[in-house]
Amino acid sequence: MANELQKLQVLFNRHEVASLKFNGHCHDCGGKMAVQVDMGEDGKTTMDGGFLYIPNEPDSGKDEERFLKCDECFGKDPILRNYKECEVYSRIVGYLRPVSQWNDGKQSEFKTRVNYKVGKERR
Ligand SMILES: [Zn+2]
Repeated sequence: MANELQKLQVLFNRHEVASLKFNGHCHDCGGKMAVQVDMGEDGKTTMDGGFLYIPNEPDSGKDEERFLKCDECFGKDPILRNYKECEVYSRIVGYLRPVSQWNDGKQSEFKTRVNYKVGKERR
């Protein structure tokens, strides 16, 4: 899997530029921000104003999906979390089905479910 810098290299080559600016909102706090990415003549990339995430592989057709994080939020947690929907399966009336397809009542019931912790068996 390519890292962020390799993905940026693909973008730089595709657009034939040495500088890209990404405007948007911070993924975590929602604040308006912009990230400036420059490629030096030595091929090294510098990011200014925050951090840019490109979760998908370049040229996968989904590489337009990008997320920004401001410096403050990046300092708190450099990992990009909760950026795509996750299908959760659970048992309902005897079958394993995606929770998103359950009716409202069953989805509400799912939220109150607790995991059972298996302890030491007593005899
Ligand atoms: Zn932020």
